[in-house]
Amino acid sequence: MQITKTLTTNPKPAPDWNNLGFGAFTTDHMFIMDYHEGRGWYDPRIVPYAPLALDPAAIVLHYGAEVFEGLKAYYAGDDQILLFRPEANAQRINNSSVRLCMPELPVEYFVQAIKELVGIDKHWVPKLPDTSLYIRPLVIATEGVLGVRRSADYQFIVILSPVGAYYPEGLNPVKIYVEEEYVRSVRGGTGFCKCGGNYAASLAAQYKAKEMGYSQVMWLDGAERKYIDEVGTMNVMFKVNGRILTPELSSGTILPGITRDSVLKILQSWNIPTEERKITLTELQQAIQTGTLEEAFGTGTAAVISPIGELNIHGEKVAISNGQIGPLTQKIYDTLTGIQWGKLKDEFGWTVNISSQK
Ligand SMILES: *Cc1c(COP(=O)(O)O)cnc(C)c1O
Repeated sequence: MQITKTLTTNPKPAPDWNNLGFGAFTTDHMFIMDYHEGRGWYDPRIVPYAPLALDPAAIVLHYGAEVFEGLKAYYAGDDQILLFRPEANAQRINNSSVRLCMPELPVEYFVQAIKELVGIDKHWVPKLPDTSLYIRPLVIATEGVLGVRRSADYQFIVILSPVGAYYPEGLNPVKIYVEEEYVRSVRGGTGFCKCGGNYAASLAAQYKAKEMGYSQVMWLDGAERKYIDEVGTMNVMFKVNGRILTPELSSGTILPGITRDSVLKILQSWNIPTEERKITLTELQQAIQTGTLEEAFGTGTAAVISPIGELNIHGEKVAISNGQIGPLTQKIYDTLTGIQWGKLKDEFGWTVNISSQK
């Protein structure tokens, strides 16, 4: 793929590297590629970051035909920039697209677009500890037609945002509200997809929890409100009696997180038993009552590892790990971020060095 490049003549001022927050800044350039039915993907280009021109009838604006991804580029010192498992994000955006009747992208286009865009905006990769460049690829249906059907046209876009910690709490434990009214996904739905509609539908629960002083909700399954699915936009893991339990993916209601998969593989390499299976809220409550719930944490690219310090179950507040970060949670965080920032040996072959890109 030959990417046309138009560089900005009006670079943005540098952000305050000490106060990046999450998602507030975008870089100087973006990647765009078009798709037309019968023709396939064409015209890959890197252009100055700017608003899109969309037909107000564009399908994405009415019927939500949108899928996205989230990954990061990490500064590893010495002008080295690392990506973490980008092919896994490429495969996942395609799984999301198939479910929404949208066209798939060749995995190598996805990875090349990111490598070249990050290469052009490499001075935007933050260098301070715990900061990174968040990469947001998305595909939208752009055909201007008021019909609930496949679009003849799509755009694949990549934008970049230098970020600090996702939660203002950083690695400090978050409080989670177990949501029993609203649900995030159901069997046969789109829970396993990173598609915009899932997140629009989740806001009501998120604000409800915020008003009560919680960072996020814990989602239960949509049919019976009995099984644990996820926490907010993270997968969830529990350490019970020395074993790590996490909800299984087979229900199709859970986003198959790349952080989740990486954490499971790291744990397995340490010979810590892991179980991917259905977990009922009742089982969790029993583990709390008998004192066998040792640690709990969320996993996701944005927050990496987020310890859970308090759960609100049926209106009752329970502390986990005395509201502190558990030792295994800390060790997983140190190991995973050590690999991502190139400080620890990557025995899994997960990191991709893009420093040789122009
Ligand atoms: C993105 C996301 C995750 C985490 O996936 P990662 O690949 O680890 O970043 C988990 N749950 C939801 C709902 C998500 O959108």
